[in-house]
Amino acid sequence: MKITVLGAGVVGITTAYYLARAGHEVDVYDRQSGPALETSFANAGQISFGYSSPWAAPGIPMKAIKWMFAEHPPLTIRPDGTLTQLRWMLQMWRNCTASRYAVNKERLLRISNYSRQCLEQLREETGIQYEGRRQGTVQLFRTQQQLDAAGRDMLALGEAGIRYELLSPADLVKAEPGLAASAHKFVGGLRTPDDETGDCHLFSTRLAEIARNMGVRFHYDTPLDALETQGGTVTAVRSGNRRLEADAYVLALGSWSSRFLKGLLRIPVYPLKGYSITAAIADATRAPSSTLLDETYKVAVTRFEDRIRVGGMAEVVGYDTRLDPRRQATLEMVVDDLFPGARKPGDVAFWTGLRPKTPDSTPIIGATPIGKLYLNTGHGTLGWTMSCGSGRLLADIISGRATEIRSNDLSVHRYYGSAAADTVAGATATA
Ligand SMILES: Cc1cc2nc3c(=O)[nH]c(=O)nc-3n(C[C@H](O)[C@H](O)[C@H](O)COP(=O)(O)OP(=O)(O)OC[C@H]3O[C@@H](n4cnc5c(N)ncnc54)[C@H](O)[C@@H]3O)c2cc1C
Repeated sequence: MKITVLGAGVVGITTAYYLARAGHEVDVYDRQSGPALETSFANAGQISFGYSSPWAAPGIPMKAIKWMFAEHPPLTIRPDGTLTQLRWMLQMWRNCTASRYAVNKERLLRISNYSRQCLEQLREETGIQYEGRRQGTVQLFRTQQQLDAAGRDMLALGEAGIRYELLSPADLVKAEPGLAASAHKFVGGLRTPDDETGDCHLFSTRLAEIARNMGVRFHYDTPLDALETQGGTVTAVRSGNRRLEADAYVLALGSWSSRFLKGLLRIPVYPLKGYSITAAIADATRAPSSTLLDETYKVAVTRFEDRIRVGGMAEVVGYDTRLDPRRQATLEMVVDDLFPGARKPGDVAFWTGLRPKTPDSTPIIGATPIGKLYLNTGHGTLGWTMSCGSGRLLADIISGRATEIRSNDLSVHRYYGSAAADTVAGATATA
């Protein structure tokens, strides 16, 4: 089949790779001048299979109110003047029940776990290098209340067969020696030893090169305008005065997916703004060795080879990509609080990105009610983590192959109360 992939972020690129691997003829289009230059560019670098948790959770509405008055708020909400934002927040709030949390968590863990297998296989097959490490993730708790709340996650991890360890402050230093100066600030931590880290932009760039060598054609500097449809089926993608025709179309436009589909299909993908800083390491003995998540500030600190990436914050403010210096100050405060003396002061790259977030935190993967149109979008806070599994899954669905995980509740049909066009594990797609 001739397949067009819209978007060359980490999700579009992994999808293109798996489609080419399945024998398809693939073209990828992106408005940027190269791979992964938008949200996939400078994320927090955690490939946290075990830490895959929905943002909408019991207690979050109350916390959100408290955070409005915090000095370093993990979440900020500012009306963007659209009905879309209000609708999305209402849907998010509806997902904050214990029962919805359990359903969403299982789905996230399913895709993330599968992604782990796919990434492992991809590494073996291609030898791809991306400043990756396999030393686990540690979630840091400053209060007993945070530690108690982790019990819910441990239950889900156990059920999903994901290894975890509960750490005392002394254990924290054993796992992460760089925490020696700050471990006394924590009551404990939760470690998922099989989690990984890596530079998503580097991975995407190298995988795009591998895919290109497999025959995938990348078309950069190509803004896409709209999908043309006839009788409920896509007939082409329009880019300026060009019509790009294919047998199937995969939409992987991240936060811009919902805007692109406006008037054709409503999908609840909203841009959740976040920030990161990247700093050069001054003293490796004081630096992190993997990823740590400070539960109080919801900030992740990740070690690359000779750099530290610090990412976090969630702002519900629409498609606003201005850099707010107060967020840089928070990120610098957190890394200096955890790892004093680890980074070179002043030498910092500040960045912002828009996470494509669904209200149930689960990505949208699969066929749609529109003929020839497939979605791979809405990966929110964990797109790097879930990219390989999502790409492989969609490639199998499009190829009409048996999928290795259940996918009937992952497509856009879940918002419309029908899963008829999807697959269950081991069954063949009927898109
Ligand atoms: C601060 C921050 C920290 C994060 N940390 C982590 C982390 O530690 N681990 C993790 O797993 N995930 C993390 N994420 C989330 C992760 O980065 C995203 O989920 C992921 O990058 C989404 O990838 P994508 O390919 O769907 O979107 P994108 O990377 O945004 O790709 C979409 C592409 O579509 C293109 N495009 C859009 N519209 C058009 C158009 N009209 N025409 C042509 N091209 C178009 C864009 O140019 C872009 O290249 C983080 C995100 C942020 C913001």
